[in-house]
Amino acid sequence: MKQSKTFIPTLREVPADADVKSHQLLLRAGFIRQSTSGVYSYLPLGKKVLANIEKIVREEMDAVGGNEVLLPALQQAELWQESGRWEHYGPELIRLKDRHNRDFALGPTHEEVITALVRDEVKSYKKLPLTLYQIQTKFRDEKRPRFGLLRGREFIMKDAYSFHATQESLDETYDDMVQAYKNIFTRLGLNFRAVIADSGSIGGKDTHEFMVLSEIGEDTIAYSDTSDYAANIEMAEVKVDYSAPDVDMTELQKVETPDQKTIEDVAAFLEVPASNIVKTLVFKVDEELVVVLARGDHEVNDIKLKHALDAETAELATDEEIVELLGSHIGSLGPIKLPVGVKVVADHAIKSIRNGVAGANEDGYHYTGVNPGRDFAVDAYEDIRFIQVGDPSPDGEGTIKFAEGIEVGHVFKLGTKYSEALNGMFLDENGRNQPFIMGCYGIGVSRVMAAVAEQYQDAYGFTWPQQVTPYDVHLITVNTKDDAQNELSEDLYKLLTSYRYDVLHDDRKERAGVKFADSDLIGLPVRVTVGKKAVDGIVEVKVRQTGETFEWAKEELIDRLN
Ligand code: ATP
Ligand code: MG
Ligand code: MG
Ligand code: MG
Repeated sequence: MKQSKTFIPTLREVPADADVKSHQLLLRAGFIRQSTSGVYSYLPLGKKVLANIEKIVREEMDAVGGNEVLLPALQQAELWQESGRWEHYGPELIRLKDRHNRDFALGPTHEEVITALVRDEVKSYKKLPLTLYQIQTKFRDEKRPRFGLLRGREFIMKDAYSFHATQESLDETYDDMVQAYKNIFTRLGLNFRAVIADSGSIGGKDTHEFMVLSEIGEDTIAYSDTSDYAANIEMAEVKVDYSAPDVDMTELQKVETPDQKTIEDVAAFLEVPASNIVKTLVFKVDEELVVVLARGDHEVNDIKLKHALDAETAELATDEEIVELLGSHIGSLGPIKLPVGVKVVADHAIKSIRNGVAGANEDGYHYTGVNPGRDFAVDAYEDIRFIQVGDPSPDGEGTIKFAEGIEVGHVFKLGTKYSEALNGMFLDENGRNQPFIMGCYGIGVSRVMAAVAEQYQDAYGFTWPQQVTPYDVHLITVNTKDDAQNELSEDLYKLLTSYRYDVLHDDRKERAGVKFADSDLIGLPVRVTVGKKAVDGIVEVKVRQTGETFEWAKEELIDRLN
């Protein structure tokens, strides 16, 4: 491709509204442009990177028996009503009406559509298992679209769905998919971990996330420093049982803490570490009250809790709202007993508190001797994986560390959730009608592009790895007024192309400085510069990732590049 004929609008300045490296450089190097909040255009270089990622994804999906399809983005509301998600999906679902006033959604995911499709076509166990996948634009009206392609409102996802007659068959495909995902992210050169996604289920065999380790990641994972163990430490959602026995107040001591308003005040006054104080807060998020249990000291926990609640807009509930919802069961702080159905989130550190302090639902008083799990009438405590830095790893190998991660993939065993809701049935070997057993498997293809972009760059620009680079070689003619340089460039362009190198030839009538700066930004793995030594048939070759340079004769080039 001649650079004079393509569309690579590079920028010299760092765009003001881009706050992470990948977003900044994808804009600066002319790979993408924002159209509106969370919505992007992929320019020629960006499109090529996407295509490379998609190619790897397709190869690995095909290798585990996936069949590619393309499902509609425009989805009738009836399907979503059948599954119950028309009501429950919330404001991320983009809804619209057609000219006949019928309701539709733009697909954020495709369980409904695919279950309905397979339901109508597959009636017998003989046609199972079946794995279908697609690479398609998804729509989610994210509350806070940000970090460029990392969290868009329109983005590209690979989503696969598998249908099975037996649990064993699902387990087998699930394991194949996990391996395929590992292959994909390894081939993409990403520094990733497969993590147990559901911190609420012991063992976590039924859902895994694939996390690229990155300081800008929005998830936190706990991992063993010596084994493969890793888990997402998302806030655990806790089930509350109203019938749980009353708190045994005899273990608690009510102490006077006059005028001690903040956690730090209380801690200092009672001479206990702030980390031993249980904080109970009630937030209002999208009109829903959420009870948050957190350990006192951790600024980090506060941030995480806000994060878990997506709580830039979450406000502390007013006393009236709390009383209205919870009756007299809760004050602003204190050992609590919550009605069933109230959403409670707890931070992972709370379980470690022994004989802590909590508010007494009475101004100027606190309880000491508080033990979460006993004094908080929360029945599901034992099921939650509470992990802290330095804990022994649950698999018995190594010590727990924390890292931030970008969720690039997610695999689930869905079971019969959607087949039952949408009446997706088949006849089993014994002639009995059974719901399909299903799995679903997603990869954020455009998010992966940003994750690779985040990992592969230096002070000058991108340092694309071979598998995803938009072109293999950047051929630069330093002075396009020089016949020898033009001629040698043309020769090399043909030669390299004949050896299947994908070449971007900078044949523009620009100053050398501009060409080199753009070339650094774009970051192709190899740069071949045709300059003054063209008369002798010599070129300069620079390896982008290492910065090594060589002077090679035209005749040596192909051999040495290989
Ligand atoms: P997140 O926790 O980041 O919101 P999710 O858990 O809602 O993601 P899934 O429903 O598991 O996402 O979708 C499968 C994959 O699609 C995710 O693992 C992620 O890679 C990608 N993805 C999800 N939301 C977005 C988005 N807004 N922009 C880009 N990619 C996304
Ligand atoms: Mg999401
Ligand atoms: Mg997620
Ligand atoms: Mg997910």
